Amino acid sequence: MPHTERIDGKARADRLIAEVAAATAKLKALAISPGLCAVLVGEDPASQVYVRNKGRAATAAGIASFQETLPASVSEAELLALIAKLNADDRVDGILVQLPLPKHIDPQRVIDAIDPGKDVDGFHAQNVGRLWSGGMDRALVPCTPYGCLMLLRDVLPKLAGADAVVLGRSNIVGKPMAALLLSESCTVTLAHSRTRDLPDVVRRADILIAAVGRPELVRGSWIREGAVVIDVGINRIAGADGKPKLVGDVSFAEAQGIAGAITPVPGGVGPMTIACLLRNTVIAACRRRGVTEPQI
Ligand code: NAP
Repeated sequence: MPHTERIDGKARADRLIAEVAAATAKLKALAISPGLCAVLVGEDPASQVYVRNKGRAATAAGIASFQETLPASVSEAELLALIAKLNADDRVDGILVQLPLPKHIDPQRVIDAIDPGKDVDGFHAQNVGRLWSGGMDRALVPCTPYGCLMLLRDVLPKLAGADAVVLGRSNIVGKPMAALLLSESCTVTLAHSRTRDLPDVVRRADILIAAVGRPELVRGSWIREGAVVIDVGINRIAGADGKPKLVGDVSFAEAQGIAGAITPVPGGVGPMTIACLLRNTVIAACRRRGVTEPQI
């Protein structure tokens, strides 16, 4: 059986975090202390964990970490007022609004209110526009797809001309991933729940990015021999022992011996997302002050 490389996202993320920490140390010598503020609305336990982890990672990389916690009953106007305050706060270089928001708040309106220069999630229309129109060097790029691209670049020195299939068309993962792959001159197919003959579409992929949120939807028989598979999915299912376990959108076991390389879940894309958030915060801090940004 041909060998399938396991792409170690945790190790790559640790390297990137070390680079971020080195960059923040240099900035401190210029009396610049990058700051990241997470805004958490309500008491969703998963969101609380994400925000806590992001805060810890930021502190460990030398980034000042702030948190604003609002009750689920907060009005949209109050949340927008907080965003305006953070936009004006010089200590804050990155603003992260943890999604999902309560139903009575329009997430797009909140994202639109963030200063694009502090939009470290890369969801503001100005950053989206720059990403798609060739201004990537001036955009803040969404963290999860950028992390996927970094992993791909490590495994595949030449991306140009590769057939890339992105499964899932969300604004957070699928669409920005397609834009990034296009900017690398891949031939990109963006597939979704209405795509016909999905297994056949996936079989064309030299590069497969799966971001659907369906446990092990992609079977081994869908994967082209030697393809590089980046599994973004995080799905909690009951394991054989009855305990909950995390699986991706791709059957990791079935991909062995078929895929050329694949990210595990957990330990693949997840750690890269947080590391790229820290990277974006340092880049935002440099751009806002007209300081040369680190090439990380
Ligand atoms: P999302 O907004 O729910 O989007 C899912 C996409 O998958 C949609 O475009 C949907 O198509 C498509 N889809 C759903 N079922 C499908 C099917 N049976 N066949 C083909 N396409 C299907 O999800 P998301 O926010 O992009 O997240 C996707 C997954 O990535 C989730 O498991 C999430 O937890 C995970 N995630 C991980 C990270 C990380 O750091 N590792 C970060 C973000 C997300 P339609 O558009 O047609 O409905």
